[in-house]
Amino acid sequence: MTTHADRVAYLHEAGFNTFLLRSEDVYIDLLTDSGTNAMSDRQWAGMMMGDEAYAGSRNFYALEEAVRTYYGFPELIPTHQGRGAENILSKILIKPGDHVPGNMYFTTTRAHQELAGATFHDVIIDDAHDPASNHPFKGDVDLAKFEALVREVGADRVPYITVSATVNLAGGQPISLANLRAVAEYSRAHGIKVILDATRAVENAWFIQQREPGMAGVTVAEILKQLCALADGATMSGKKDSLVNIGGWLGLRDPRLAEKARGLVVLYEGLHTYGGLAGRDMEAMAIGIGESVQEDYIRSRIGQVHYLGQKLIDAGVPVVRPLGGHAVFLDAAAILDHLPREEFPAQALAAALYLESGVRSMERGAVSAGRDPETGENRYPALELVRLTIPRRVYTQAHMDVVAESVIEVVEQRAGVRGLRFTYEPELLRFFQARFEET
Ligand SMILES: *Cc1c(COP(=O)(O)O)cnc(C)c1O
Repeated sequence: MTTHADRVAYLHEAGFNTFLLRSEDVYIDLLTDSGTNAMSDRQWAGMMMGDEAYAGSRNFYALEEAVRTYYGFPELIPTHQGRGAENILSKILIKPGDHVPGNMYFTTTRAHQELAGATFHDVIIDDAHDPASNHPFKGDVDLAKFEALVREVGADRVPYITVSATVNLAGGQPISLANLRAVAEYSRAHGIKVILDATRAVENAWFIQQREPGMAGVTVAEILKQLCALADGATMSGKKDSLVNIGGWLGLRDPRLAEKARGLVVLYEGLHTYGGLAGRDMEAMAIGIGESVQEDYIRSRIGQVHYLGQKLIDAGVPVVRPLGGHAVFLDAAAILDHLPREEFPAQALAAALYLESGVRSMERGAVSAGRDPETGENRYPALELVRLTIPRRVYTQAHMDVVAESVIEVVEQRAGVRGLRFTYEPELLRFFQARFEET
């Protein structure tokens, strides 16, 4: 725990950017659910069985088996984390001048697509951009938007569509099986590949079980299989659903494409049977995959997120509805409605929450959205959010109570929160290292 005076000093040192705080100066860390999971006793036991052979490690085959069993992709290329898979996939599928649609952007995914020469197009349904809409599947693709893009640029300039399950930047919102099925049918008819961002597909499967007609009696494991069956490939960050601290993979069906990917993984990550991971890390991820689809686990995981979210809703705090799978998203534009978008209300709210109680959160608004690569102008997404992201198997409900009390306190004193301006703005993925001062 820190004092208020400590936190004032730490926040100034960090340039009002919660990414630049030291972890030891944070009381409850809700920056991200990425790699912050607590591994189980079985996973730690798996770490002791690391086969650190350079090629053909036993742990690679265990991981390949787990991905085939639970996700159903026959070709597995391990990577150090999700963005490693995104880099390789973008390089093998995109030609300069191509167009890649997706159900809302994700920071690293879009950056890799743009670096490979593509233009990203958001084809998510309009409800996703409305924090107050109660649509049960705000991650759904708007087929009319997708089709209009294909008609405009031509199917041969659209190598694939990225479908995220769940959609992180919409608030952890799920896509329905029915919608993904329609996307896959249309894509197949036009020679467009469907690439699943499977980072939180287990959490998505749980929402399908809860909300999609006819799915209540189907297991999360079975639904996950059905989701993946509709995709030609998937990029995965094991640091989320798979309950590990590091690791990811690229899964494919086409063996020829997989051979191309293996050629690149050797350059960027490591040999194709370790992809930048130690053998022990692959073993922990293989075991984590099996644990992640257990019904009791996934119910308690999302139940904890909803416990926090419901406390805030009951107190009248504006949050993104319905509550998502991995985080509660505060509607910063509504909470700090005295600040113009140019003064980054979400960045300011995240800073204010840290000052109040030492709770660390993350901006997901204009700072994360970056600048338009063509015009150089700031992008102002419809959503200006602060994300309270819950690590898996780490915190208790008592911690969630403290977080809720802190947020409510900040909301009550919101008139005193000042806007921010850049003092340092990096070119790529600026939110990670940007620095600010109060206006
Ligand atoms: C985290 C994340 C990624 C990137 O994965 P890393 O392991 O952080 O590189 C991609 N897509 C989504 C939706 C994510 O949440």
